[in-house]
Amino acid sequence: MIDEGVVKYSLKYNQTDEIAVKECKKIENVRARLFSLGLIGAYSDGVGFGNISVRYKKKDSFVITATQTGELPKLSPRYYSFVKKVDFKKFRTYAIGPSRPSSEAITHACIYSLDKDIKAVIHIHNEKIWDYMLKNDYLSTNDTPYGTPEMVEDVKNIYKNIDPFLNNAFVMKGHFEGIVTFGKSLKDAEKTLYEIIKKLLK
Ligand SMILES: [Zn+2]
Repeated sequence: MIDEGVVKYSLKYNQTDEIAVKECKKIENVRARLFSLGLIGAYSDGVGFGNISVRYKKKDSFVITATQTGELPKLSPRYYSFVKKVDFKKFRTYAIGPSRPSSEAITHACIYSLDKDIKAVIHIHNEKIWDYMLKNDYLSTNDTPYGTPEMVEDVKNIYKNIDPFLNNAFVMKGHFEGIVTFGKSLKDAEKTLYEIIKKLLK
């Protein structure tokens, strides 16, 4: 049932030096907190989960944690990837940087494509939060696996008639434990996640 860590889209990747170090450090602060809460980590079989990205300037590019980094408590800029663009028609991701992007980069790209003002995306795994969101009428994707064209369609459909800034969290029904939050800043996305946890703990 755990379907994580496999890149399902085609990736054009050129290895380069560290890039957008400022953005990497910004992500790192938030990631350290989410890692300590176990919302980013690795399963007992070693497969990592959880990833964070921030939009690069006003472009369609973004900086994202690299693939298979979930088990690492701290990430230096070498463990980040720069996604230049995603071609949704060809289902192809173009990335550079010292490491390959998270296998969920395409989901992040899809969220950025909803609105230029979306600046950050957080994807974490937690069964309790996942359950809570499914049972409490949060926005949800259908039973589609992550990283597929169906998932991209799903995310677009959710927000067809809904303001993403008033509904900046959704649960991934077809991706066990998967939750996404996003926002006009990384702070916003992180706060939204904590708001859900606060409700759950009441
Ligand atoms: Zn996931």
